[in-house]
Amino acid sequence: MNELIEKITAPNGGVFTGNGTNTYLLGKEDLTLIDPGPKNDEHIDEIIQFGDGKIKRILVTHTHKDHSPAALPISKILDVPMHGRLVDGESEWEDETFVPDKVLNHGDLIETNEYSIEVVHTPGHASNHLCFYLKEQKCLLTGDHIMDGSTVVIAPPDGKMRDYLESLELLKNYDVEYFAPGHGNFMDNPEKTIDSITRHRLAREAKVLRNLEKHGSQKIDDLLKHVYSDVPEVLFPIAKMSLLAHLIKLIEDKKVNCEEDIYSSS
Ligand SMILES: [Zn+2]
Repeated sequence: MNELIEKITAPNGGVFTGNGTNTYLLGKEDLTLIDPGPKNDEHIDEIIQFGDGKIKRILVTHTHKDHSPAALPISKILDVPMHGRLVDGESEWEDETFVPDKVLNHGDLIETNEYSIEVVHTPGHASNHLCFYLKEQKCLLTGDHIMDGSTVVIAPPDGKMRDYLESLELLKNYDVEYFAPGHGNFMDNPEKTIDSITRHRLAREAKVLRNLEKHGSQKIDDLLKHVYSDVPEVLFPIAKMSLLAHLIKLIEDKKVNCEEDIYSSS
């Protein structure tokens, strides 16, 4: 089903990265490299060998350190341009080495004789996050917007829950048969996947509200224990970021108040 797509997984598996970051090569003779991954010599060599002199451009979904640091060395070695965006504000996981030769905007098209890629701006996980729609295969490369097998981290201030939910809804405008995620395996049933992620997030948001109503005002660490009791404690530092993203959205929605780090329902 994916004759124009090759996947090479980087050897950087871990809590945040699953089996490792997926690097994709699109095309047959005119290759587009998507998310070259971490700056790992073995991985970079593999990409260059696989590309066989045919890589023409590098695209990155976003600039977290597991997705873009290999872009600059590969761009130098092969003398090809880097395409992507920079974040709006600050984020502690930024790969500072990535500076796009061409800034990609929502709706941009990258056209070759073999295929075309439409750029879809999907802020939420990161303000500069892009998905890439490969029309010929009805495939959407989702980066960290949608991951296979793990929940996407929404870490404020660059990560925003409201943007994330809107960016999920946006994907329904595209005729997609399957996702090629930044981590994990290809995913069928795009619409079902989108709906289940949205439901999961809204259920968590409702749980935050219910908990504040039931147990009264709380600090974020107490709220974390109540609201994420289903999550192993080792994942609490990650869950805390997403909880903060939920709370920020709820404050904007005027459903929650925050005074001196104490949250309460309003
Ligand atoms: Zn990321």
